[in-house]
Amino acid sequence: MILPKQNRLTPDQLDEVTAIVDEFHCSIQVIVGAVRTIYAIIGDERHDLMIKRIEGLPFIDRVDNIQSPHKLMDARSDLASHQVKIGGVTLGKELLVIAGHCTIDPKNPELFFETAQAVKEAGGQVLRGGVWKPRTNPYSFQGSTKSLEILMEASVRTGLPVNTEVMDDLHLKMALDAGVQMIQVGTRNALNYSLLRSIGKAIAGRDTVVLLKRSRSMGPLDEFIAAAEYIANFGNPNVMLCPRGTMPTLEGYRNHPDESITPLLKERTWAPVVVDPSHSVGKSIYVEACSMAAVAYGADGLCIETHVSPSRGIGDDPKQAITPETLQRIVTKASQLWTLRT
Ligand code: PEP
Ligand code: MN
Repeated sequence: MILPKQNRLTPDQLDEVTAIVDEFHCSIQVIVGAVRTIYAIIGDERHDLMIKRIEGLPFIDRVDNIQSPHKLMDARSDLASHQVKIGGVTLGKELLVIAGHCTIDPKNPELFFETAQAVKEAGGQVLRGGVWKPRTNPYSFQGSTKSLEILMEASVRTGLPVNTEVMDDLHLKMALDAGVQMIQVGTRNALNYSLLRSIGKAIAGRDTVVLLKRSRSMGPLDEFIAAAEYIANFGNPNVMLCPRGTMPTLEGYRNHPDESITPLLKERTWAPVVVDPSHSVGKSIYVEACSMAAVAYGADGLCIETHVSPSRGIGDDPKQAITPETLQRIVTKASQLWTLRT
């Protein structure tokens, strides 16, 4: 990672650096952080001569050579001062609350508009709504592109930015073209490196944010952070890590709740952690406790399935969604808990 003396390199300076790394079969990727721009060396950067020549340039402050499988997302990275912002919230400064339907019912837009308004009134800053759904059963409702219009209309009506999951390049293009500000990578695709790369490329140069769920089958935390690195290394490091439960081991919970990994993630990466209690426990009655646990563990935000009338919902909503009243209570209590953290 190359740190210039000034905030960023001039085009001529960048050419000079690029010419050096070219000789060593490496390339430069520009990563635009909120505070400073850094220049990542892509390729094998352990060439002493290459590092020395770059460090010798008068406009270079230093070259950091972090030995980490995720050198951009690493807590020691020069990007650690990067601030991720969405919905008027700077992650880490106040609790981010993302809420809304698991799945938007394209036949009942009004229901989503009502939820959207209620989420806003309850204190949510980002509206979630599933347009395309990864369903275990191929005969279950798979989502509908028509719901994208409903999602964007709800965004206009409430003024809230929106989150939706994409599963392939076509969804990604449609979502970005429509103006979706937060792209979700679901648990099933968190290990789909070609999708992660596509997202990284597509969001470079934009202020889009990515909510990266933890794969149900991910083991070591490095695997999770490296998935974020796949996205960030194309130039936009706005990635939030979302524990959402792993393979179920307990009868009663849908998945094995994993909000407890938050402090471990925070030791290794600077990325904000936004916990999804809904998919973790999988039942609305447990969501409040899981949300509070997540905040106690140090989460920067929560992503909660919420519905004005869960029984009329589709997808996970009848089982998992909480009502806006519960959401409001969680927001109030979680914000109190936040203030107790040091
Ligand atoms: C969802 O957010 O509705 C969803 C399908 O999430 P996950 O990928 O965590 O199961
Ligand atoms: Mn869901």
